[in-house]
Formats: sequence, C-alpha cells, structure tokens
Amino acid sequence: MSRFDRVVVVDWSANATPKLGADSIWIGRAGAGSGPPQNIATRLESMEALRTEIAAVLQAGQRMLIAFDIGFGFPRGFAGHLTGQRDALAVWDWLAARITDDARNGNNRFEVAAEINRQFPGIGPFWGRPNGRDLPDLPAKGSLREGHGLAELRATEALCSGAHPMWKLYTTGSVGSQSLLGQAHLAALRHEFGDALSVWPMEGAEAPIVLAETYLSLIDPAVRLAQGYPCKDAAQVDLLALAFNRADMGQLTAAPAPLDVLREEGWILGAGHGAHLLAMLEQATLTPPRLRNDCFAMPQGVDWVPVDTALERLRDALHPLTGAEDVTVRQAGGRVLAQDLVARRANPPAANSAVDGYGFMQGALQRDGPYTLPLVAGRAAAGQPFGGAVPHGHAIRILTGAILPEGVDTVVLEEDCASDGARVAFDGPIKPRINTRKAGEDVGAGASFLPKGRVLTPADLALASALGVGHVPVHRRLRVGVLSTGDELLADPDATAQPHQIFDANRPMLLEIARKWGHVPVDLGHIPDDPARIATGLDEGARDCDVILTSGGASAGDEDHVSRLLREAGTLSSWRIALKPGRPLALALWQGVPVLGLPGNPVAAFVCTLIFGRPALSLMAGCGWQSPQGFMVEAAFTKSKKPGRREYLRARLDVAGRVEVFASEGSGRISGLSWAEGLVELPDEAASIRPGALVRYIPFTSFGL
Ligand code: AMP
Ligand code: MG
Repeated sequence: MSRFDRVVVVDWSANATPKLGADSIWIGRAGAGSGPPQNIATRLESMEALRTEIAAVLQAGQRMLIAFDIGFGFPRGFAGHLTGQRDALAVWDWLAARITDDARNGNNRFEVAAEINRQFPGIGPFWGRPNGRDLPDLPAKGSLREGHGLAELRATEALCSGAHPMWKLYTTGSVGSQSLLGQAHLAALRHEFGDALSVWPMEGAEAPIVLAETYLSLIDPAVRLAQGYPCKDAAQVDLLALAFNRADMGQLTAAPAPLDVLREEGWILGAGHGAHLLAMLEQATLTPPRLRNDCFAMPQGVDWVPVDTALERLRDALHPLTGAEDVTVRQAGGRVLAQDLVARRANPPAANSAVDGYGFMQGALQRDGPYTLPLVAGRAAAGQPFGGAVPHGHAIRILTGAILPEGVDTVVLEEDCASDGARVAFDGPIKPRINTRKAGEDVGAGASFLPKGRVLTPADLALASALGVGHVPVHRRLRVGVLSTGDELLADPDATAQPHQIFDANRPMLLEIARKWGHVPVDLGHIPDDPARIATGLDEGARDCDVILTSGGASAGDEDHVSRLLREAGTLSSWRIALKPGRPLALALWQGVPVLGLPGNPVAAFVCTLIFGRPALSLMAGCGWQSPQGFMVEAAFTKSKKPGRREYLRARLDVAGRVEVFASEGSGRISGLSWAEGLVELPDEAASIRPGALVRYIPFTSFGL
C-alpha cells in the first residue's frame, strides 16, 4: 500500500464537560502538517478540526491516516445481536442514530448503554456509571453482571496487555464510554466523505483518508522516556503519530485475523507490532543532547579574540540540535538530510537505448558495411518493452529509453538509417554498444548517493526520485527566535515615532535572514530595556525555539540588560572580537537554549550574523559548519587600516568587474547594506589598499542570501 503523507493520532475522551490538559482530547501529527500536539476541550470542536483537515488533505491530493484511541468494534456476537449484521460499522450507524453529544460535551452515553443492555439476556454487558445516576439496566459494578452471553475481550485485545474491556464505561480506562461516543461521531464522518474515506480493517486501507483504531500504550517505553511534553497524553499522541509515519504500513495492516473477526470486532492498528513501532521511534527521536552550560566559556585573560579564533571556538562549542523527521521527496527541497541516502534501485534500472533508431547485436555484423538487416515485427519503446528476443542478424525499431530487448546490444541512430518497414540499411563501421546506456551506469542499486548534512537541491530531488527514494529523513527545521531590545525602539512600523524613538530595523532583517537560510523564523517581538520583561521574552524563546538571536543591549553599558541577565544566569560569555563593525558578541544559554547576543547597530548586527550566525545556525540545523566562499578581485578603492582587527566593508562589483566599497563606514548607515551586494574582507594585519590591488570579496550569495 502507498504511504500516508500525514498521520494523525487522536487521544479521545468521554469527558462530560469541556476540559483541557491531562485526560482531555489530544491530537498528535506527523509528516505533512506536523506540529506540537493539539489540545481540544470538546468532542464537537475536535471533529470540526478533523473535518477541516480532511478537506485540506483531499484538496492537496494527499493521504492521511487518522488513528483513534478507542475501540472500533465490540466482542463477537454483539454486533449481530444488536443490529442483525455481524458488522462493526452497522453498530456505528446504530449508535449514530441514538447518541447525543452537545457543544459542551453533554451526552447520553449511559442511557444508550442501558438501552443496549435491555436488548441482551441477563444483566450487562455494559457496566459502570457515576454515583447517583439511577439506571436500573446499567449495573454500577462489573461483578453484578450475569448471563449476557458475551466475551470480555476482543481477539485483538489479547495482544495488548493492559487493554480495558469495551464494556467498562466509568473510571480509569473507560474505553467503553469513549468508544460509544467516538463510534457515533466517526459514523457521521464516514458517511460525509464517502469513498474518499475508509475504515480499517472493516474496509481497505487504500482510500485517501483511512480511519483506524489504535492503543496509545503500544509505545509506552518511549513515552516514559519522553521529555518536554505538557502531559503523558501529549507525548503518546505525538510519538505514536511519529512511529506510524515511519512504520511499514503494509506490515501493520496485513490481515491480522480472519476477515469475519475483523469485520465484527475490528482490530487495533499496531497490535503485536510494538517492537517495530518503538524501533521507528528510536530512529526518529534521536534528538541530540543539549549544549553544556559552559560551552561558550573563553579562557581567562583573553582580551581581543581574532575572528578566526572566535569562529573555531564557536564551532567547537556547538553541535546539531534538531531531531529527524520523514518527509516526501516533494517536501524535501532545501531541507537538511539527517541520514545518508541509499539507492533503492539503479539508474538506469535496465540497459536501454539512448536514441531513436534500430537495435541489433553488434557481433552479428560481418564486415565494415554497408549493412542491410531484416526487421522483426513490433518495436521497443520507453514504457513498452519488446517481449520477445531479436534473432542474431536481425534488427528492431527502438526508441529512446526503451529497454534493450534480448538479442540487442547496439543501436544505430535513426538519422543514419534507411528503412522500408521490412528491412533497415545503414553504413559501418559500428562500435559495439554505441547509443546504449548500461544498467546502473549512473548510480548502482544500494549505493549511498547523498551524504547526511546535505541541503537538498532541486537536482537532488530528481536523483532521489530516480533511485526509488520517495521519503527522506531530514532534520526538523531549526526554530530561530529573534528578539529586539531597547527603550528607543518602536515595534510597530506604522506608528508615529516621537523624536527620541527609532523604528526596529534589526528584527525584520534577522527574521528574513533566518527564513532565507531555511530555518523557521520565530518573532519574539520587541522588549524595552526592562530586565523582567527581557527575562520573560527569553523564557518564551527558550520554550518555542532552538536558538535565540537578540539585538541590542549586548555590551556592558548601564542599559545593557541582555548581557546583565545572561551574566546573572551564569552562562554568559562576552566575546570581545577583533572585528569591525562589531562589538562584543554575547554568547549564553538561557534554559539550555543558545542565545547569540548581537550588537544593536544594524550594520554590525548584519555583519556579525553573516560571519558568526551563518555557520553557527547551519551547524545547529545539522548541515555542518559553512564557511563563505570568497574571491580575490581587484579593488576600485583606496584604504589603509591598522593591524589588530579584521574589517568588513560593504561592497559590490562595478561595471569593470572591480570591487567598490560604500562611501561611508558609519555603522548606522543602513542604506550602505542595501546598496552592497557583498563584503570585502580586510585581513587582521595592517593593509594599504590601492586601486588594482587584489582584495577578498565575498558576495552575499556566498552567505546564502
Ligand atoms: P545597543 O547595542 O543597544 O547599545 O545599540 C546600539 C545602537 O543600535 C543604538 O544606536 C541603538 O539605538 C541601535 N539599535 C539597537 N537596536 C536596534 C534595532 N532593532 N533597530 C535599529 N537600531 C537599533
Ligand atoms: Mg540598547
């Protein structure tokens, strides 16, 4: 069966009032549309969310698996007795006609269960109800039941240790209540989407939308180790979705029991496959460890650090921070490979013709030509292989991309031939195997063809597709938070500025840089120079991001609260880098999340982001340390500099191909950044540049901009 583009796992709930948090409805997603687990207070709202999502998935021509943590059927004998059909889906419809469930979770499940009990002999099978709920046909305890004639468990539950019986309606594991309500809602969904939706295992698993029941405890060992989730339910749905998204669905849905059992009782998707699901998770969630708190420490007594030393230290301090996820090749452009890719088949998969022409066995030709060969009936074309063999000394009409039929190893170009339909004539000599492609001449099956860390290009997508690789493991995108600080800043670009105010220029710039580099930009807003509010902003950033870029307040001045806060948190290292434009770069961890404190001056913030932020973010995103490629170009300017620090000048190439620099070096001159198309890098040593001298020019494209 073909794979699902996205997997949704729903932890359903039988709550009688709206509720959030533990023991309420949680929805986990993996693949397309993945995100943090979603918490929903009412069943009606959750069904609305699913409806919208199904419509969007169908619209996009994708496939989605929705796995619900409820039972889709009841033990044998139940469906037949209740509905006259040994079909769980007939029970769904029976329930849909009777269950009421309102916008505030008010519902009649106990009354409906009592009504069902009345239709069975003896007492039961359902039991469990709130104290004081007077329903004579619904016993309060399981032990009060007798003579209803049904088994306690379904066949599938024998494979799931700890699964509660479907008959239990109240207190822990009230799977019965959840299922009565769930089946009624899902019956409606099923009729609404018709053929586009099927219910496994009663129906197939090939429709675009497939509903299945599952059991969240299948992956308990992984859930016990999971960190950073608001509650266990959130971890369960998130991890199980991830596991299903990577699992071998053919294996999971291969008929686990006789068809009549499946139709009547249903089956838990993943039952008996816990080990496989856990193995998938182990691959998917190998999230690297966090950074050490002292990772940015500079040795005592270091004063001005040369740029290259700072870069080396930064490189040593960091490592990739993002785990892996699986995406389809079509979603993979610009993403970072998390594992080497291995060819599932060769390119080309079989020897074929490189041209339109006539094919034959070269060894059958006697002299240098000219030749006339009889043609066999039929032809070989791409996608339409010739079934038979071509006899020695015969030829066949063959088109570009056609598999070479048996008896053909050489093709002569159509333009070099004459044919009357029965024979073909051409001149010699003919080299053996000319105009043919060997099987695997490009890439062999099983070859490792792209290394992990690679940022996937359009050509890579062609290659992966040709080699039969439809899904690729990529790093989750790095979430880059951007925070501006300063009392003088105005966050709203449309506001009317007072004379003492300036517009926030850095935030839009840094967010766009992060986006262009393939990360997820997260706008953490603007915060005045108020330590408490900066701390709150950093808290928010640490919750939602993998790394935080701040600008402003990173020096040691009175108002430089960012550095003060980070110093108080004990993790700050102010790197005094011998660099112009720039000032100390503040490096720290806030709740384990790296913070790069950039200078406030837009020009300095920009240059520091390119020189330090670019390789650092690349490394954290999994694509390795990236150094920009520079070119030695003749200068069109004059400049002398003292030794002791490196300088970057805003620059671009002039019409003569020489590099010119912006008229002013003022670090507040944002127009110069906009004017420039790259940077000239002047060495740490003294330099005296005259027109015609060679200088190192690094175009912005080399920085990925
Ligand atoms: P600071 O690093 O906070 O001392 O700021 C240095 C200079 O950069 C000051 O002139 C600030 O007003 C300016 N500045 C700081 N943040 C921004 C920003 N987000 N946009 C534009 N200018 C800024
Ligand atoms: Mg400031």
